[in-house]
Amino acid sequence: MQTHDIRQRFLDHFIKAGHTEVPSASLILDDPNLLFVNAGMVPFKPYFLGEQTPPFDRATSVQKCVRTLDIDEVGITTRHNTFFQMAGNFSFGDYFKREAIGFAWSLLTNSVADGGYGIEPEKLWPTVYLDDDEAEAIWRDEIGVPAERIQRRGLKDNYWSMGVPGPCGPCSEIFYDRGPAYGVEGGPEADEDRYIEIWNLVFMQNIRGPGGGKEDYEILGPLPKKNIDTGLGIERVACILQGVDNVYETDLMKPIIDLASRLTGRAYGAGNHDDDVKFRVIADHARTSALLIGDGVLPGNDGRGYVLRRLLRRVVRSVRLLGADQPTMDDFISLVIDTMAPSYPNLAEQREHIVDVAVAEEASFSNTLAAGSKLFADAAAATRASQASTISGDDAFTLHDTYGFPIDLTLEMAAEAGLSVDQEGFTALMAEQKQRAKADATARKSGHADLSVYREFLDRGPTMFTGFDELVSEAKV
Ligand code: ATP
Ligand code: MG
Ligand code: MG
Ligand code: MG
Repeated sequence: MQTHDIRQRFLDHFIKAGHTEVPSASLILDDPNLLFVNAGMVPFKPYFLGEQTPPFDRATSVQKCVRTLDIDEVGITTRHNTFFQMAGNFSFGDYFKREAIGFAWSLLTNSVADGGYGIEPEKLWPTVYLDDDEAEAIWRDEIGVPAERIQRRGLKDNYWSMGVPGPCGPCSEIFYDRGPAYGVEGGPEADEDRYIEIWNLVFMQNIRGPGGGKEDYEILGPLPKKNIDTGLGIERVACILQGVDNVYETDLMKPIIDLASRLTGRAYGAGNHDDDVKFRVIADHARTSALLIGDGVLPGNDGRGYVLRRLLRRVVRSVRLLGADQPTMDDFISLVIDTMAPSYPNLAEQREHIVDVAVAEEASFSNTLAAGSKLFADAAAATRASQASTISGDDAFTLHDTYGFPIDLTLEMAAEAGLSVDQEGFTALMAEQKQRAKADATARKSGHADLSVYREFLDRGPTMFTGFDELVSEAKV
């Protein structure tokens, strides 16, 4: 079943059950606590917090999500994208546990002819919160899942909360058993790669008070109106229904891997694990970058722009390491737009802008990548030669300041080389630089500009094209 069909079946299932379809919000919402929308419920927050009255009791959506927290997992686990689509159904003081569990079960297990996903019930393992006897009884007695396939998990995995005081409640998650080829027996408690999490059902029933973090907090009492918030990973369901090994090999992502293979002349899945990770990183990050630019993000030195810059530069470096020495960004981004535009038409409308932004970032980084990589290799060799294992803050700063290497890239390269980086030294140099910039700005404002920079230009003679350098020198965190 194609990804597009999986999305549509989800929406149809819940529309049929009286839900209002709400289109995906932008990845960028006006929320100071959130870099990107990272879950389907985010646009509904004001309703759950009681700040606004929802115009419906039941809603369903497929929301674009970006999780920067998962960047380091990409390509390494089989199930983490930085951009993914979270399908959800929401009840605002309307139905609760019984219906939420029933709706989820019928969509997953109804036959394909009947509008469902046709998953065999024996492959599904629900979890419930430690003391949630009510949810367990529904799974066991009403749905008919054998008790040994229902696991209980603690606060970290199976309890959700938002704000203090704010709504909170137990979750019930649904995992799919991919079989012994993917890991050991024993349910999600034993192995979350073999048992892949596909759906999280959150039962908002209490008000959370202060407490010692996620592991231990006070419950102030029950919510006046109970809510349901669920999230199903479309890419994970695609992975299962298409019988592929991981979320990067589904119908919408595998074409990007295939393109990377053609452009680099290297085979994917030929037994080289490190290469395969790079292919998956390219597919994932190219896709996320296109979606972010489509929602208004531009590469920059902090916040959202920095995330985008880091993703794009990681694509460029991975492509180079796989052996391509020509620009490739245009091809990748164009393909992402082709594959994703049927669900997100704004991508096609902004095709030119999205491609241009990504290509400019590739150009500015390609220019310094080789020189920076050489500096890194020299620094790594010198570090090893002196029996040390830490790349100096100075080198990390030069890589950043002169060669446009985001610090995360240097950290990643160091880790690949079995080394670490003096991050404190790096941060101190960054702070000094900021201080200098501030002092310069103050001097300029007060009319006492340091004119030596102009002197230098005069000494240098005729002006040269500096477009690339300027883009690179922007690369300051
Ligand atoms: P995991 O434990 O696998 O990291 P999660 O518990 O962090 O997942 P939730 O926050 O419960 O995920 O999100 C709801 C659903 O969204 C998950 O059940 C999963 O199907 C999907 N999902 C979460 N993170 C990702 C991701 N990085 N890539 C693709 N799908 C994801
Ligand atoms: Mg996670
Ligand atoms: Mg989880
Ligand atoms: Mg979860």
